[in-house]
Amino acid sequence: MAPRRQQTVVMYPSFGVGHIIPMTELARVLLRRGLDVTMVLIERPFWSSDSGAATTRRVMAANPAITFHVLPPDPSPPDFAGSTKLPFFHTLQLLRRYNGELGRFLRSFPRRRLHSVVTGMFSTYAAEVAAELGVPAYTFFASGAGFLAVVAQLPALLAGRQEGLNVLGDAPLEFLGVPPIPASHMVKELLEHPEEDMCNAMVDVLKRIADTDGVLVNTFESLESRAVQALRDPRCVPGKAMPPIYCIGPVVGDGSAHREMPPERRHEHECLLAWLDAQPERSVVYLCFGSRGTLPAEQLREIAIGLERSGHRFLWVVRTPAGTDGPKKFLEQRPEPDLAALLPAGFLERTGGRGLVVTSWAPQVAVLRHRSTGAFVTHCGWNSVLEAVAAGVPMLCWPLYSEQMLNKVLMTDLDMGVAWEMEGYAAGRVGADEVEAKVRLVMDSEEGRELRARVAARGEEAVAALEDGGTSQVALARFLAVAEKLQGQLGD
Ligand code: UDP
Repeated sequence: MAPRRQQTVVMYPSFGVGHIIPMTELARVLLRRGLDVTMVLIERPFWSSDSGAATTRRVMAANPAITFHVLPPDPSPPDFAGSTKLPFFHTLQLLRRYNGELGRFLRSFPRRRLHSVVTGMFSTYAAEVAAELGVPAYTFFASGAGFLAVVAQLPALLAGRQEGLNVLGDAPLEFLGVPPIPASHMVKELLEHPEEDMCNAMVDVLKRIADTDGVLVNTFESLESRAVQALRDPRCVPGKAMPPIYCIGPVVGDGSAHREMPPERRHEHECLLAWLDAQPERSVVYLCFGSRGTLPAEQLREIAIGLERSGHRFLWVVRTPAGTDGPKKFLEQRPEPDLAALLPAGFLERTGGRGLVVTSWAPQVAVLRHRSTGAFVTHCGWNSVLEAVAAGVPMLCWPLYSEQMLNKVLMTDLDMGVAWEMEGYAAGRVGADEVEAKVRLVMDSEEGRELRARVAARGEEAVAALEDGGTSQVALARFLAVAEKLQGQLGD
């Protein structure tokens, strides 16, 4: 049943480019289904850094069919820099405080026009507001079903623990639906003592996912069938049913480059794509560490030496190294990198014909979908993973933050089988030897060909999931139908 025009889905993404980008892609899907979409944003710290703000503005400008509404600034914003607590903790508190503003905004719609509220995975406080107004609320989970399965089972794991998970080191944690996860690979904030403010706040916000009317997961069933099955197993959340799970992905961009390019860098990015056009098929290794990832100068030099020795073509996104360590580095404003100072002397000249270094940002989806791209060195952010899977590009994992180490376990496990890992990351340094060896392995060897064939098959599955009658299309239609029915009931 096609939804009626004039019905609006209000989207309320979690902070950060990695949440806003896929939420925008979901909005585009819903617009094609005949719904109106309003995306509600909180200005800083949602957009965290200058580059985050610039990307968000670009996303807004490139999507005129979406109505963007920015809530008024908080009268007493947290002092991120001066606080001893993590910025993430303050952000969660701030999101909670914003419920009042969000409620005022939602009340400005005639009740019948509100189809549903779709919150980001860290914006689930909004479900309280939606419930007060009698509007169905859904979570858009911008990571995979494997991480969601872990999140769902986490409260039971932490209940009654006297110590943080960090004391367990690499001991494997057993969860339904995913391979054993070394405790050290959990999201860092969740490794603290369960009663610590940060851990508490994060568990609380994630627990609220189960209070929404359903979870839209950015994955497709065949990519993570065990995890999806676990999420539907009553043992996953003992005593409380998980809401319906809708695997609607991959919700990723289509690579229409004009949407991804900052206007001031359009020429540069067009040159980049023209350079890719001139390379042989599947010959280029692409290296990029998400919207926020940075590496120390010493590590950049190791990568450069490894890439040069491998003899392979490459496209490498380089950022200025962070000035501080720890999570506050995400708040830093950094200048564009000085490549001549950061990379080994003569590197750019020697590799000029076969390598391209770009600063800060590349039109990633277009790069991954380009026929010349042969492999992807990634920080394992879930959007990057899905974009590569959809494009059939094998990956080398180099996790940096968030749930990326956990993603790495899933990606390298035979069930998913789309990547190998750069082992040195665990000790904080991947040597030039490993960069060279892994690049050669993925590009030159028989095992590399097998890996590529596996990922290509996954890519075909992704296409099939999104076609008429495919699992993700069916799940999306079911979500829309159920939400409309609920909306009718709740609104009465
Ligand atoms: N991205 C991009 N160009 C870049 C870096 C990132 O287009 O140079 C996009 C990427 O395609 C993805 C998003 O930014 O859609 C990053 O999300 P991800 O979940 O991979 O990582 P995060 O930035 O959240 O750590």
